[in-house]
Amino acid sequence: MDRYAVIGNPVAHSKSPQIHAEFARLTGERLTYSTLLAPLNDFAGTVTEFIQSGGKGLNVTVPFKVEAFDFAYSLSDRAQAAGAVNTLSFNAGEIVGDNTDGAGLVRDITYNLRFPIQGRRILLLGAGGAARGVILPLFAEDPSMIVIANRTVARAEELAAHFSSHARIESMSFDSDALQAGQFDLIINATAASLGNDSLPLPATVFSKDALAYDMMYGKGDLPFLNLARQAGAQTADGLGMLVEQAAESFFIWRGVRPYTASVLKQLRDS
Ligand code: NDP
Repeated sequence: MDRYAVIGNPVAHSKSPQIHAEFARLTGERLTYSTLLAPLNDFAGTVTEFIQSGGKGLNVTVPFKVEAFDFAYSLSDRAQAAGAVNTLSFNAGEIVGDNTDGAGLVRDITYNLRFPIQGRRILLLGAGGAARGVILPLFAEDPSMIVIANRTVARAEELAAHFSSHARIESMSFDSDALQAGQFDLIINATAASLGNDSLPLPATVFSKDALAYDMMYGKGDLPFLNLARQAGAQTADGLGMLVEQAAESFFIWRGVRPYTASVLKQLRDS
């Protein structure tokens, strides 16, 4: 059977084996999918061994997404734009890197949550790897603008400059007046603040009527960002759907079959 795994450190907590086992069952694909713990100083050696033992593909998680980018021989456009790889495929000596995080986010928002992005004003909070990875896929949906706000403003500025050929992108700090009067339609929390259950210094006025507030974090219970959004009357979603959808996109890259995700998402929510 073809072998796949998620590589990370730590990785034991990953839900990916459960998700991919269910995808394989639903699609009738014969494969195995496990976790692969790499030492922090030997990502390349661990991946090389996996390839030599016949492995077909890897999902890559913290902290190796940038190392995976450097390790791949060829890269998809979205991996290039993200500067990070979360999906590696090994075929006939080729090592191909892709990034499915942004596609997963967009699919969760537009398909699962039925929230069209076209023409919407997006506020993207954070300027780390997760924020960078979703910008190109968000632009592909034709929003009216993307504003990046970050605690360290210089990082938001750098990120906006990197994507400036897309024109409708700006950066600002959390306390800028424009943010106070923002009235954004889609507010995405791509910061790691929710990891520590920290609040972001956002005014309730940042959410427009019928806004969607999306936190990429999942499995942490009631998140301060989503609480604030709810109090302001916005719809809310955590990042569990993104997790399942980015996995489905990886599965599609490897197997050429797109799994049905609704039952997998429901199973994870119930558990
Ligand atoms: P990075 O470490 O690359 O970036 C962290 C970002 O969060 C930076 O912009 C940082 O700001 C900001 N930040 C950290 N702590 C705080 C705080 N207390 N208050 C305000 N801002 C803060 O992380 P990633 O970009 O890789 O990941 C971000 C989040 O996205 C994580 O929570 C991760 O779990 C989630 N994620 C979810 C996925 C999913 O499938 N659902 C996929 C990928 C990521 P500064 O620049 O000032 O340090």
